[in-house]
Amino acid sequence: MNVQEVKGCVFNIQKFSIHDGPGIRTIVFFKGCPLSCKWCSNPESQEFSTTILFDKSSCISCGKCIDICSHKAISLQNKGLIDRDKCINCGACSDICPTTALTKSGNIDSVKDILDEVTKDSVHFRRSGGGITLSGGEPLSQPDFAEALILGAKGRGLHTAMETTGVAPVEVLHRIIPQLDLVLLDIKSFYSQPMEEQVGIKSEVVLKNALIIAELAKEIVIRIPVIPGFNADDKSIKAIASFVKHLNKVQKINLLPYHNYGQNKYDLLGKDYEIIGLNSPSKIEMERYKSIAESFGFICQIGG
Ligand code: SF4
Ligand code: SF4
Repeated sequence: MNVQEVKGCVFNIQKFSIHDGPGIRTIVFFKGCPLSCKWCSNPESQEFSTTILFDKSSCISCGKCIDICSHKAISLQNKGLIDRDKCINCGACSDICPTTALTKSGNIDSVKDILDEVTKDSVHFRRSGGGITLSGGEPLSQPDFAEALILGAKGRGLHTAMETTGVAPVEVLHRIIPQLDLVLLDIKSFYSQPMEEQVGIKSEVVLKNALIIAELAKEIVIRIPVIPGFNADDKSIKAIASFVKHLNKVQKINLLPYHNYGQNKYDLLGKDYEIIGLNSPSKIEMERYKSIAESFGFICQIGG
C-alpha cells in the first residue's frame, strides 16, 4: 500500500491549535461519527459523506440551485431550502450558488495532499514540540485512511495524536492505537441510560474499549465533556474518575466545559438544536469537578 495515495473524507484542516496535544498543532477533522451527541459542536461531522449547509441570510432567491438539482430536493418553500430526504449531497447546488448561501462540508483528499498542507508548518511544530492531531467526527471510523495518515505523518517526522470517542471494532484499535504518540480519549459517562439517551450508544461499549486503548496506547489523556443535565454533577464525575483509575498509564484528565458555539451550524444543516438554552457550567462548578478528579490522584486541567 502506498500510504500517500490513500484517500479519505475530511471537512476541515485547522492550523495553529494550542489544544489537542502538545505544542502548536494542525488538526485534521474527519467526516463521520458513530455517535450523535446532542451537544456536538461539529454536527457537520456526523455524516460520513459530504454535507450541504444553507445560510438563509446569504440567499438572494435566484433559483439557480432549484434548476440544477436533478433530485428535486430544493424549493424556496422548503424550511431550510433543501429536502434532506431527497438530497444525495452531490454538491451541484453549492457549486453553482452565486452567493455561497450553499456550501459543501467534506472533501475527498489524499494523505499526500493533506500532509503537504500540514507540513507547511513544520518549523512551528519543531520549535514547539507540536504536530498533527486527527479529530472529527471519529477518525477510527475511516480506519484505512487514519492509519495511512498516521504512517505518512510519522514518515515526515511529525508527532501524532488522535482525539477519539473510542468507538471502533477491537481489530481497528489494535491496528491503529499503538502507532500514535498520544491518544486523547473521551469518556462522557459511566452510566448507560444518559449515554443512550443523549449520545446514542451504551456506555459499556466505550468503557470496554477504553480498557483496551489504555493497554495499547503509548500515552493517553482522558477528556470529559462536562454537560449540564447529562454529567455535570459530583456523582457522575466521581464515577468516571473512579473508572479511569483502572486504566493503564492514565495520569491526566482534562475537563471540557459545555459551550454552544456550534449551535448556528444546526440551522445551516436544517437540524434542531435539542438542548437550546443550556448554560455552560460555572467556573466554581468546574473547579469543584477538578478537585474531585484530583482527589483520585490525577493531574487535572479545565480545557483542552
Ligand atoms: S446537493 Fe445535489 S441533490 Fe442535494 S440539493 Fe444540492 S443539487 Fe440537489
Ligand atoms: S443558488 Fe444560492 S442564492 Fe440562489 S436560490 Fe439557491 S441558495 Fe439562494
